[in-house]
Amino acid sequence: KGKRAFIAGVADDNGYGWAIAKSLAAAGAEILVGTWVPALNIFETSLRRGKFDESRVLPDGSLMEITKIYPLDAIYDKLEDVPEDVKSNKRYSGSSKWTVQECAESVKQDFGSIDILVHSLANGPEVSKPLLETSRNGYLAALSASSGSSLSLTYIASERIIPGYGGGMSSAKAALESDTRVLAFEAGRKHRIRVNAISAGPLRSRAAKAIGFIDTMIEYSLANAPLQKELSADEVGNTAAFLASPLASAITGAVIYVDNGLNAMGVGV
Ligand code: NAD
Repeated sequence: KGKRAFIAGVADDNGYGWAIAKSLAAAGAEILVGTWVPALNIFETSLRRGKFDESRVLPDGSLMEITKIYPLDAIYDKLEDVPEDVKSNKRYSGSSKWTVQECAESVKQDFGSIDILVHSLANGPEVSKPLLETSRNGYLAALSASSGSSLSLTYIASERIIPGYGGGMSSAKAALESDTRVLAFEAGRKHRIRVNAISAGPLRSRAAKAIGFIDTMIEYSLANAPLQKELSADEVGNTAAFLASPLASAITGAVIYVDNGLNAMGVGV
């Protein structure tokens, strides 16, 4: 029987979430996605109008099917947590059941259970500010949206200084990696669930473009990484499919670099 995967953080065909969905679909998994509420409309419309058809093609020539798209805002656990101005916001009021708890309940109601959970989302409202100038609210917002899950995407800014990755996003990724280890222990003992993170190299996604330095990071990697090629989202997707598969049955609590080896360099060349 094929596995069922829920991928949180897919709203176009440029990011890591989309590539992970494709790799999992190519391996035979059924795909459910969670899409940020404000991005839901445009994503569904584009998908329906065939805008993503070219990038939906799987290695066997068929098109990736997304069984269901769930609206999701990962910073709210339950309806009571949602402030009035968000509830009444036009971009939110058109959808319902998008808090984490309600979304999980909807998936449970529709499908019973899932086998694979991927967290491929991040949001740092003050990402372009240095940490030194980040407000408490901006810092907490970055942590709130950007940590937790069973397979997640992280960035080396958690452990090394990456100027420009601000607003508490470096802190959020450090928390995410620490949580990966502790959750691996707790969920492993309790449910035999494996928990891992992929530390990905730079990709020109929508989120990354918003940070403002993505082209510089890609050039830096091309110049300095052991493998001098641009990183493709599929390479991260394939690693995610491996980590979610029985081939990785002894891997848990790990942060796996998929970055052309850049992390291993001590100095630029
Ligand atoms: P992306 O824009 O494709 O994905 C980010 C998604 O998060 C978007 O779809 C956005 O709608 C969603 N999102 C934001 N706030 C949300 C919320 N509150 N609730 C639900 N969804 C929300 O960009 P990406 O770069 O592919 O990001 C995916 C993951 O990869 C992130 O965790 C990111 O930090 C990580 N990552 C990216 C890079 C890179 O260079 N692009 C490098 C390393 C790690």
